[in-house]
Amino acid sequence: MSEFIECEICLKTKTCDEFNPNKKEGGYYPNCKLCNTQRSAEFWVDKKFKECITCGVMLPIRKYEKQDGVPFAACTKCFETRVAEKAVERKRLAAIKKAPTNASTKSKFVPKSTPLPDVRRNVQQMDGTDKTSTSQPPKKAKF
Ligand SMILES: [Zn+2]
Ligand SMILES: [Zn+2]
Repeated sequence: MSEFIECEICLKTKTCDEFNPNKKEGGYYPNCKLCNTQRSAEFWVDKKFKECITCGVMLPIRKYEKQDGVPFAACTKCFETRVAEKAVERKRLAAIKKAPTNASTKSKFVPKSTPLPDVRRNVQQMDGTDKTSTSQPPKKAKF
């Protein structure tokens, strides 16, 4: 059972699906989506600049993707960045879900192999006479 609303611009009676919901006041906007888009497009048609909702920079309208003549809220660059970031995040989450054991085996593997030889070298150098030279690479210091 869908509610019927008469659009105050085109005066056509349409189901509420054809209207944008009014999030602030509840209910729906008095003009249908079609009229709303048309009105927005008319509003933007002679505008030269628009502030990007994401980076907050005033950019020429051509820097925005358009849909039905209405520019996106975020500039193309921000929009593309967001899409790319979401794709990366989705891949990362998918990888974690697919292989939950991978991360734990890696972290166990790393500490075993590397630190021991370094510690032995440091001890041998400390036994020598020059304690201050241990922090610097010897070749560069002499030249
Ligand atoms: Zn309408
Ligand atoms: Zn932007």
